Amino acid sequence: MSIADDDSQLQGLTQVYQQAFSDSLTVGEIARWDLLSCQPDDRLEEAVRRMHERKVSSILVIEAGQPVGIWTERDTLALDLGKAETLDLPMRAVMSHPLRSAPASMALHELTQRFREQGVRHYLIEDGQRFGIVSLSDIVLNQGLEHYLRLRKVHSLVKKQGVALDAGASLAELLVFMRDHGRDAVIIDFVAAGVEADERYGIVTERDLVRVLAFHADYRCVGDVATRPLLTVRHTENLYRVRNIMAERKIRHIGVLDEDGELVDVVSFADILTGMELAYVHELKQALQETDHALRRSRDDLFLAQRVIDNSLEGIMVTDARGVIISVNPAFTRLTGYSEAEVLGQNPSILSSGRQSPAFYRRMWDSLAEHGYWQGELWNRRRNGEIYPELLHIAEIRNGQGELTHYTALFSDISRLKESEARIRTLAYYDPLTDLPNRRLLEDRLSVEISHATRKKDRLGVLFVDLDRFKRINDSLGHQAGDQVLKEVARRIRGSVREVDTVGRMGGDEFLVILGALERPEAAAATARRILTALLPPIETDGRELIITTSIGISIYPDDATDAATLVKNADVAMYRAKEQGRNSFQLFQPSMNARSLERLALQTALHGALAGDQFRLHFQPLIDTRTEELLAVEALLRWQHPVLGMIGPADFIPLAEESGLIISIGEWVLRDACRHLSQWLSAGRKPIGMMVNISARQFRQPDFVDCVAELLAEWQVPQGLLTFELTESILVEDVDSAVERMHALRALGIQLALDDFGTGYSSFAYLKELPVDLLKIDRLFIRGIDRNVRDAALVGGIVFLGKSLGMKVIAEGVETRAHLNVLQDQGCERAQGFYFCEPLTWDQLLQRYPVVLRPDGQ
Ligand code: C2E
Ligand code: CA
Ligand code: CA
Repeated sequence: MSIADDDSQLQGLTQVYQQAFSDSLTVGEIARWDLLSCQPDDRLEEAVRRMHERKVSSILVIEAGQPVGIWTERDTLALDLGKAETLDLPMRAVMSHPLRSAPASMALHELTQRFREQGVRHYLIEDGQRFGIVSLSDIVLNQGLEHYLRLRKVHSLVKKQGVALDAGASLAELLVFMRDHGRDAVIIDFVAAGVEADERYGIVTERDLVRVLAFHADYRCVGDVATRPLLTVRHTENLYRVRNIMAERKIRHIGVLDEDGELVDVVSFADILTGMELAYVHELKQALQETDHALRRSRDDLFLAQRVIDNSLEGIMVTDARGVIISVNPAFTRLTGYSEAEVLGQNPSILSSGRQSPAFYRRMWDSLAEHGYWQGELWNRRRNGEIYPELLHIAEIRNGQGELTHYTALFSDISRLKESEARIRTLAYYDPLTDLPNRRLLEDRLSVEISHATRKKDRLGVLFVDLDRFKRINDSLGHQAGDQVLKEVARRIRGSVREVDTVGRMGGDEFLVILGALERPEAAAATARRILTALLPPIETDGRELIITTSIGISIYPDDATDAATLVKNADVAMYRAKEQGRNSFQLFQPSMNARSLERLALQTALHGALAGDQFRLHFQPLIDTRTEELLAVEALLRWQHPVLGMIGPADFIPLAEESGLIISIGEWVLRDACRHLSQWLSAGRKPIGMMVNISARQFRQPDFVDCVAELLAEWQVPQGLLTFELTESILVEDVDSAVERMHALRALGIQLALDDFGTGYSSFAYLKELPVDLLKIDRLFIRGIDRNVRDAALVGGIVFLGKSLGMKVIAEGVETRAHLNVLQDQGCERAQGFYFCEPLTWDQLLQRYPVVLRPDGQ
């Protein structure tokens, strides 16, 4: 799946959620208000003519300002078109009534449900004296279901009811046919009329019947009424495109062609809706539950925040944009001695001690203007004249339009601290080696930052920084060298963060960084990256150059925890994960941190459920010998059988599973299931074949991957040489040496290795010979054009030659035609896979296609 697809798919889901969350889309917003209307006594002929002119599918019948009925294209079916009097009937005799109506304020999803329950096609929308109509089509177009539509192919709607009426049939026959079969459209076959094969079909829909009525011309047969040629799409087209084509062309039916280009069915807008609604309603329910939850949480948060302010030990002061005090909390009074009444309307300068220089205030305002935030220590004066030191945080508050509306100041009295001797203070709160805040001060600061962030509804980042293998330096070079390294590390970390951020030493080789006022969690990752980079250059001690690497764990307030201790602990946990992942890297506390939005989480939850709910299936695509067309192996390809969405292909969920780490359990399931099937195949006495399994890079890099494979092999008694892992070059990205080492270990277990999608990656032919690979799979991108494009053919020939000279077997994937196969045979490619031979099959289909052949020796 391309990134663009991925994004728009997310956008689709986002819309679903937005609608669900805000309930913002009402039926009034999507209703059509420019309705055609007529009187109950108007003649049908008149109404029909006007409908035809305006190209609308319904007309409202209004009596004394009130809608009393509606007549739609569908109602044509109930008429006797053979009789001339039909057109003289008054509307009141033919309209359907009573009307189902809904208020304009009704939520769209509620109406969707009604449509479904009542099986109607139009709803009258009332907005005071205004009347509008919402039809099924409007709903399909407005549900923001792009996500589902993209995931589903049009063939999922095909009912194969595709009988066509001959173009010579009479109109009466057509009406009977439509009525009896409950169709709103019928395919008309012109083959008997001697029409070219590719224009052989036309279509008659209810709208055409209106035309018949409007012109009451002398139509002899359905061929005269039909629209031709029928617009068609291939059955593999996704519903999103189909919907767009239909919307663009303003049609409501479209023909579906199978792989041979044969017409199999027509599908309608209504069909698209029916399929999607189920998914929609299902998803909606979940989304609403989550909203509920989120709402409850934010209410709790708000309540909590007020409590925090009132009970805070820290003074809190709020000013308007000009700096006039508009509110203070009880702690403010306790600390400054001023009552609320005394300070409201005043300027904070009444607290000023006169000890800070103008430059100090200038820096403070600069920082406020730049970061919207300032933190520092300063001296203020109490009401009784006493001067005291305080730790102060000031932050701007902006409204939804981004305009500055308030400042908040949060301060605590640190005089107790200041009172003690500077040395004691330093000992108590600062690390003597690096002069950085120590663990105690860090914990204090973090708590202060947290209450500040709670107030400001801001994020905080906590980075736990740990040097890799520091003990080795201490042990081998002595403590002095170790101390020097720590000092330099402290200096570099300090230099990688903003003034307002806090850097401290937790002890040993552990540092903690507190990032205030984070805009996005990614900003914490960016800082981590900066620290890693800053620590890269060698550190000099005693004329020696030492290379230091670090592992960093990140936790975010309030996402990962809301109290200081848990935040630090989670950052520590994440740091360990970074070490596991190969050091010199950073990790966010939770994989969900990477989830850019709720919908990713929802899909991930669904994926989790898929594993637990046994919704994964393997399909198998044969690998064929191009000379004998014999079956050599099968490739296991994963499918997700979603209870509502139907079958989902791996391209739509594997990237997400990789991002969330779920690929590891999914991959293990795939491996086990592939082994199980292979062992089943063998035990039935079939000729042994290979089993090829796709392994994701993330799975491959798992520390216990090789052990896990060894266990599976033993468990299912898989013979040597039958299992092949398909790897892509992405396994080499991080650490070529350890990847190669691992590849050797796998081969030692009797597993063959294939390089998948060869030609699309970073492939340099030069390193190919270094890789322990048995097979090359040429990407289908190159195969597609080989019968037309000499360069592609030559390239494939080159890869075959190269592979063979390195002792590798070469497989062409995506072989779709006889012409492809011919070229491959000419180029000496002996193995191939593709739709030309066989699509991926279910296990049962595979068994049917390759029934047991007893071996010649009768075993
Ligand atoms: P891939 O390894 O390149 O797999 C081959 C894909 O090409 C399959 O798509 C297959 O259905 C399709 N294909 C086969 N013959 C033809 C042909 O003649 N023409 C065309 N146009 N396509 C053909 P599928 O099953 O949708 O798999 C997509 C990708 O998902 C795979 O690409 C593979 O990278 C990944 N994948 C599938 N199963 C697994 C799995 O169990 N684990 C992991 N990690 N990845 C998997
Ligand atoms: Ca593959
Ligand atoms: Ca491939």
